[in-house]
Amino acid sequence: MPSSASQILKKYFGYDSFRDKQEEIIRQVVSGRDVLVLMPTGGGKSVCYQIPALMLDGVCIVISPLISLMKDQVDALKANGIAAAFLNSSQSPEEQQAILEACYKNEIGLLYVSPEKLVSDLQMITQMARPSMFAIDEAHCISSWGHDFRPEYTQLGMLRKKFSHVPFIALTATADKVTRKDILKQLKLNSPGVFISSFDRKNLSLDVRTGVKTKEKLQEIAAFIDKREDQSGIIYCLSRNNCQDVAEALKNYGINAGYYHAGMNGDARAKVQEDFINDKLQVVCATIAFGMGIDKSNVRWVIHYNLPKNMEGYYQEIGRAGRDGLPSETILYYNYADLTMLNKFAAQSAQSEINLEKLKRIQHYAEADFCRRKILLNYFSESLDDNCGNCDVCKNPRKHFDGTVLVQKALSAIYRMGEKEGANMVIDVLRGSRKAEILQAGYDTLKTHGAGAEIGAIDWQRYLMQMLNLGIIEMAYDEGFALKITPSGQDVLFGRKTVELTVLQPLVKVEKQIPQK
Ligand code: ADP
Ligand code: ZN
Repeated sequence: MPSSASQILKKYFGYDSFRDKQEEIIRQVVSGRDVLVLMPTGGGKSVCYQIPALMLDGVCIVISPLISLMKDQVDALKANGIAAAFLNSSQSPEEQQAILEACYKNEIGLLYVSPEKLVSDLQMITQMARPSMFAIDEAHCISSWGHDFRPEYTQLGMLRKKFSHVPFIALTATADKVTRKDILKQLKLNSPGVFISSFDRKNLSLDVRTGVKTKEKLQEIAAFIDKREDQSGIIYCLSRNNCQDVAEALKNYGINAGYYHAGMNGDARAKVQEDFINDKLQVVCATIAFGMGIDKSNVRWVIHYNLPKNMEGYYQEIGRAGRDGLPSETILYYNYADLTMLNKFAAQSAQSEINLEKLKRIQHYAEADFCRRKILLNYFSESLDDNCGNCDVCKNPRKHFDGTVLVQKALSAIYRMGEKEGANMVIDVLRGSRKAEILQAGYDTLKTHGAGAEIGAIDWQRYLMQMLNLGIIEMAYDEGFALKITPSGQDVLFGRKTVELTVLQPLVKVEKQIPQK
């Protein structure tokens, strides 16, 4: 029977040495100290509680939000010869009873349970499975400042006091500073050791492409994949329909693509996941549900077909590429339509204020004209001194120009239309369109009608986006997305202030046109 942590690592997991902070984390937990672990996806969080679980007497209770993942996690442990089980409401009462009895007889070292199950059956579970420690996975779910708040987590706050003699370990791959503080507070951890690994994944290139139209986007992606015949990758899409459509479109290009989303039944999902892991499927178009807990180390690229809702999600999703440490590529497609839609969703969500703010942060990231990795790491309160050299901005530094006149034209159009029109109408007027709605509203008689005809509609959209980001205009989601002029915009309009804009980057970078089959 191995006794030391490193012997256990070797015997059950087959690894010769610990990764940077694992050993110290394990040491502290075993000595009885509470611990918070912030480690990126793939960093190796699991052994931080699995090894202490094998060293301590009693049962390690692992709280995990996703019932669908529990089985995989438990199967993986069993395959390594570790006695583990899970408990959830999909099991019959008899099954649950049998598991608890096995715990009671010390036949189980780790028991995975959902927070709601643990809270509702706390007494019975902990009488049968005497806890040696608690591991709270995806701990950010406890914070309403996090990006994936789950109310059922908040009840876990009472555990610490009830089980004062056992250590708690909270683990997450994604928590900004505020969320981190909140996790400690909510779980009432007792002078915890806090371990934060670097979030810098140098092997991931970062690339954002702005304003690419749907058809070109598909073409571009098809060409990208065509050049990477033996590399698998994931395309994250916003909606279920989107996943199917993109997968279909890629298949028409002869690409071996499947899709995965929460609307599919369990068998269909499992099949896609399996085929992807076994390299039978090169590409999966998926909603955010895909990839959690799958351990495929050779995903070579991740594409975001749409803008993610926040930086946390983005970081986790790109993090599914290159878990083996080899160079991997990530591309984020960003356009005005996605932003508009996400803004609407966020504004209507239960936590609209925070969700809107989080969306704004990823928007800034996508529109940034300095090193993207700096912004990304900054978001997780980590700083990077030098530019990374592995993002599109570093590879292609932005130029600026005096955009005052251009901005004044747009502001003047918005102003003369009474600040009640959305971006498309503003652009049509600037470009001098004579379509029916414009004539009806009499916008063709405005002084600014046609004043920006020399700039294409897409470029106008991108300039308006810069103006939004610079706080020169704002968007009234509750008034049909009408553009309004801010006080700072007034200063520009009336000549009290100048504006620097970023020179637009070329939009479409089709690597090679491949024919549709
Ligand atoms: P996380 O939960 O942080 O996303 P996991 O715990 O699933 O990460 O670990 C990611 C991968 O790294 C797994 O395949 C795991 O077996 C492996 N791993 C963990 N610790 C070590 C180690 N010390 N040496 C080598 N591989 C490790
Ligand atoms: Zn960079």
